[in-house]
Amino acid sequence: MPPKEKVRVRIAPSPTGFLHIGTARTALFNWLFAKKNQGVFIVRIEDTDRERSKPEFEKDILDELKWLGLAWDEFYRQSERGEIYEKYLKKLLDERHAYYCFCAKEELEAERQSMLTNGHAPKYSGKCRNLSEENVESELDKGKEHVIRFKTPESKISFTDIVRGKVVFDMSLIGDIVVAKDQSSPLYNLAAVIDDYEMKISHVIRAEDHLPNTPKQIAMQKALGLP
Ligand code: GLU
Repeated sequence: MPPKEKVRVRIAPSPTGFLHIGTARTALFNWLFAKKNQGVFIVRIEDTDRERSKPEFEKDILDELKWLGLAWDEFYRQSERGEIYEKYLKKLLDERHAYYCFCAKEELEAERQSMLTNGHAPKYSGKCRNLSEENVESELDKGKEHVIRFKTPESKISFTDIVRGKVVFDMSLIGDIVVAKDQSSPLYNLAAVIDDYEMKISHVIRAEDHLPNTPKQIAMQKALGLP
């Protein structure tokens, strides 16, 4: 029999507010699962949103977790892991799984409104998907505002959620999601995929509102060649 995978779970709060009751609840489930399985309970501060993350919120979250008796075995802070994310983001860009998007906010908003008016779920048109390399270079040289988008596959992605059973998402409804503001500023979905891999997370236990993020994260894992 192959050796049993060691249980490694994480609570990944964003320090954009004081400890939320939902985060406390999710932390408790992760902690209990780790304890029951002689596993590792990890706290990962997801502070990639530089404008909204505040040290006083991080302090509050950690103080409250301690107060609840949920001691952690390992601790990480995403703002200290920039080099790791850059490496993976570069790979996505080099292998054309991700691309620079220069569309203006107003243009995107107008597109969104028109899709909604026509009864469609809004999604990015993919306009910048096939810009030539020279075009991209020259826009970047000019310092044009941009984001980095992931080429979301058009296929269906399914996975097994321990609570819900088999879950299927039609990725053609999602469109190319923004995964980074620029080469050194990854957003939540990408940073989470990289960290869950790097930290050898065995089970992701998180709130139901993250269910639609799971297929996006699976798509990115596939693109990066991660299990
Ligand atoms: N940072 C996310 C949040 O606070 C958690 C993400 C996750 O568990 O994957 O909602």
